[in-house]
Amino acid sequence: MKVKFYLSAFFFAFAALAWAQEEAEQTRKPGHTNQSKFRQLYQEFATPNTYRSASGTPGPDYYQQQADYKMDIVLDDKNARIDGEETITYHNNSPDDLEYLWVQLDQNVRSKDSKSPLRDGGGVPLAYRTASFAGDYLTEPFDGGFNIEFVKDAQGKSLDYTINQTMMRVNIPQALKSGEKISFSIKWWYNIPDHTVNRARSGYEYFPEDGNRAYVIAQFFPRMAVYSDVEGWQNHQFWGSGEFALPFGNYDVNITVPADHTLDATGVLLNRKEVFSKEMLSRYEKAKKSYDTPVMIVTQEEVEAAEKGFSENTKTWKFRAENVRDYGFATSRKFIWDMMAVKIGGKDVMAVSLYPKEGNPLWEDLSTKAVASTLKTYSSHTFDYPYHKAISVHAKNQGMEYPMICWNYGRPNEDGTYSDRVKFGMISVIIHEVGHNFFPMIVNSDERQWGWMDEGLDTFMQYLAEQEFGETYSEVIAPNEKYPSRRGDPAKIVPYMSGDQDFISPIMSNPENVHQLGPNAYGKPATALNILRETVMGRELFDHAFKTYSQRWKFKHPTPEDFFRTMEDASAVDLDWFWRSWFYTTDYVDIGVKEVKKYYVSDTPTAQMKEYMEANSINEADLPPLVYLAEEDSEDFDPSMKGKSPSETSQPLKEFMMDNMTVEERAQVREPKYFYQVTFDKPGGIPMPLIVEYSYADGTKETVTYPPEIWRKNDAEVSRVISSQSELTGIVVDPKMETADIDTRNNSWPKEDAPSEFQQFKENIKGE
Ligand SMILES: [Zn+2]
Repeated sequence: MKVKFYLSAFFFAFAALAWAQEEAEQTRKPGHTNQSKFRQLYQEFATPNTYRSASGTPGPDYYQQQADYKMDIVLDDKNARIDGEETITYHNNSPDDLEYLWVQLDQNVRSKDSKSPLRDGGGVPLAYRTASFAGDYLTEPFDGGFNIEFVKDAQGKSLDYTINQTMMRVNIPQALKSGEKISFSIKWWYNIPDHTVNRARSGYEYFPEDGNRAYVIAQFFPRMAVYSDVEGWQNHQFWGSGEFALPFGNYDVNITVPADHTLDATGVLLNRKEVFSKEMLSRYEKAKKSYDTPVMIVTQEEVEAAEKGFSENTKTWKFRAENVRDYGFATSRKFIWDMMAVKIGGKDVMAVSLYPKEGNPLWEDLSTKAVASTLKTYSSHTFDYPYHKAISVHAKNQGMEYPMICWNYGRPNEDGTYSDRVKFGMISVIIHEVGHNFFPMIVNSDERQWGWMDEGLDTFMQYLAEQEFGETYSEVIAPNEKYPSRRGDPAKIVPYMSGDQDFISPIMSNPENVHQLGPNAYGKPATALNILRETVMGRELFDHAFKTYSQRWKFKHPTPEDFFRTMEDASAVDLDWFWRSWFYTTDYVDIGVKEVKKYYVSDTPTAQMKEYMEANSINEADLPPLVYLAEEDSEDFDPSMKGKSPSETSQPLKEFMMDNMTVEERAQVREPKYFYQVTFDKPGGIPMPLIVEYSYADGTKETVTYPPEIWRKNDAEVSRVISSQSELTGIVVDPKMETADIDTRNNSWPKEDAPSEFQQFKENIKGE
């Protein structure tokens, strides 16, 4: 015991000496602020307050506004025009009195005087899409803005208003006091765009063969802007990329369309008996009890008959939706309609699809099943899907989400055949858009400011849901393969993260201001969360924290900090380094093995040690018994050390064992014959767990994961001493390619010319 104490005291002094020397050198260098990648995010994060707690929960004074709508909507199919009148009841739950109200007029992005087409620079491209060329140079701009006919108060008196592009300020005569509500009405109309030409998120597709249109309609009514503790009034205009910020509310909506249309929309259908035929009603009753096969409510045969006539009569479909943040509907005489039930948390939810015959046979086979599967996977990771239905509508080139309803692409060839690309594209977009019910329709983040909060979280969940879909419906997947997910796998984000820094922005950027929105707001955050789950936190801690976030913020308005804080709060994993590097910078991951040195135990001081003793006037006689490690490639190396156990080549070690260990202990002792100093380097900016696979001459392998904190004192390089019974023959960093390492040429030692197992693994991943 005495010897042990003496030894450690000596090494403490030795270390202190070395430190003092370093310190002296340090003082001659310029000073710097705290650059540690492991420092807390106090500068980047908003300070917690009584609205939002440091733990990431809504604070005791958290509030949110409510906007209720009563709407009468008329679709003029002949002229492709929508007329609407609404009464908005706005509840001011904030502690502030509001001098005016802001209403969003998103269709104004398509008005003739919209500034949206003028905001981008750019020269002549190599080639144009034909439709874009025609739209930009051959035709008059489409006039699709809102025409406001009136804004009136509850007494029918006109209210003054000011329109600034896609926003309208309603100038109320007296401030709306905290805790009070106000009702006012707006009447409007607008021309519906052809969404296949104008790349709109809403509009119609025209089918020249039968002269019909299929409508997918959203952003069709003036909608209240969000007023919150974070932004006040949300005042970022709708330019086209940054999506929407909307308060929750209850909707009563009457939609009048031609009598021969099939229609579905956000909310509970209140007058089913009026708008359904007897046949449809009985099919609907059957669908409610069918849990594995969709039941046709309107068949292809019926649709083909309907396509030929154009009813002059109209029907009004009446819906009520509670606690939703938006509203959408789809209508056409071309829509085939099927449904089936899915059990979510003991309740039945209807999985629903609407599609023209042009979507078949793909859509009748897979759409409703994809909807049902999505609801199951997402519910198990977040909260039970709270609405009574989820609808997938087929619309060419669309992928767009609204509460309970979404538009999805995936069209077979005219003869009904389709490629794998079309099939998996269709399943994936359905999973993605139905998944948006969770983020941002229920966990209601501000899409206008933070694209990643809904797209990133949704794309992460989409990956899990795709894999689960592939397991449930394995007949859809090639034998012995996984579902071919486009995003989520770490290797798939490498081309983006290793790209030209001039075209990359941090995830924490406004969606309007980034070059590549897809990888920025979808792929990279989804991959980051996947890595967090699989590699950094582990599934158990991650899943609990992710669920905690979802449950804390369902039917509320979270900010990025609320997400970041909750993930740490619920897991006891300090992730500030992870958020900083993955979300606040454009750094990438690149970790490699730089150098391996082999050592043997010796009882004579090495040349370097002698030099040190001389420089510090230390006599060998004054030193305690020491063990030295002699490098194989140095003058200290004596070939007779090779193959011997440490107690054979070090007299002090042998004596130590004799003095301090019993015979039994000595018999049990493990005496490694090989010692290595392995140096890892980190050309990439992101600190990540250092995952290392060591291979030995006896055929064994061992994988060690050093925590990311291994980089906390030296962000560029770190060494480890490895001891082993058998000779080290190979080292691979990140052997399963789980960290999105952008350059794997430096990941192995020794560097091999022939493709290694690792290289082959890499090729396999690329091929997916
Ligand atoms: Zn999306």
